Amino acid sequence: MFEEARLKLTGWYLVIIMTISLGFSAAVYMGANEELMRFDNAQRIRQLRVDSVNTFLIQQGLPVPPGNETQGLESLALARKRIVCSLAIVNLAILVVSGLGGYFLAGLTLDPISKMVKEQKEFISNASHELRTPLTSLKTEIEVALRDEKMTVKDAKILLASNLEDVNSMQKLSNYLLKLHRFESGDADIKLKKMDLASVISKVVKEKTPYAAQKNIKIITKLSKVDIKGNEEYIAELTGVLVENAIKYSGKAKKIEVTTTKEGTFIVRDFGVGIAEKDLPHIFDRFYRADTARSKSSVEGYGLGLSIAKSVADRLGVEIKVKSQPGKGSQFCVQFPVAS
Ligand code: ADP
Repeated sequence: MFEEARLKLTGWYLVIIMTISLGFSAAVYMGANEELMRFDNAQRIRQLRVDSVNTFLIQQGLPVPPGNETQGLESLALARKRIVCSLAIVNLAILVVSGLGGYFLAGLTLDPISKMVKEQKEFISNASHELRTPLTSLKTEIEVALRDEKMTVKDAKILLASNLEDVNSMQKLSNYLLKLHRFESGDADIKLKKMDLASVISKVVKEKTPYAAQKNIKIITKLSKVDIKGNEEYIAELTGVLVENAIKYSGKAKKIEVTTTKEGTFIVRDFGVGIAEKDLPHIFDRFYRADTARSKSSVEGYGLGLSIAKSVADRLGVEIKVKSQPGKGSQFCVQFPVAS
């Protein structure tokens, strides 16, 4: 599909370049022809003068220098031929060079689009795959239950609870996808204003505390008040992802640290499973999950949290930096611009 588009684009580049080149050549030819005609007329006048001098010399019985009246016409035709030939060679060279150059440029132009389409395809395939698992489980459970004539109310309740888990899982995925779309598409209207970083983070930490408590994890906060330029909703979203991940991937560790400094630095640190060096460049990719996360069925997720966090950071104009050591823990750090 993209090869055909590339050839078509090259064709259009060629049409434009050759139209300009041929137009320019026609103008050059006409200009040169006019000059040649003027030169030829001057030659003819000079020849007429020479002829009259010759006639005079003949009449006087003096020797006549050799003259040739047709010489001017012949060189004019030759000069025209030469100009046409040169223009044809130049145009041919332009056709070949612009054909090759156009093909190369068409490739460069289409490359980002081709990458985007590839990513989109991968995204759809991954999303369908993630949806298929809970859907299949839901369908199987319902089918088995329908065939079970001896099913008691207690069994039905257990089944419904399991179904609800699958539905929750699908709802979570669709929420992630909607968020990702919202923050990636840039539709959301982002307004940056002066705000206290510590107070937003403190709110999010409070929201996540029950989840941490379920896992016996203590969230230790060291929040210095600092006014930064940001957006509350976006920073809350980013903090939510980082704090939730720190809790999720804490393993046996029983504490995480959330810090803000007076310089506008925000740090979330855990002492859990850590991230292998080979995974670090990919953790912000959509649907990417490191092996440690996949193999442990207790750590649920879709590999979308950090993609959302990155989109949010991009929109806020900040960068998320990660330091991690497998088995020792991870540190996610964001530097916000301090408001004056
Ligand atoms: P999810 O947590 O849903 O799998 P994320 O996009 O939030 O997806 O994270 C991507 C991957 O990065 C995770 O699967 C995990 O392997 C790794 N990761 C993220 N945060 C941490 C962390 N604090 N500690 C260890 N691994 C992490």
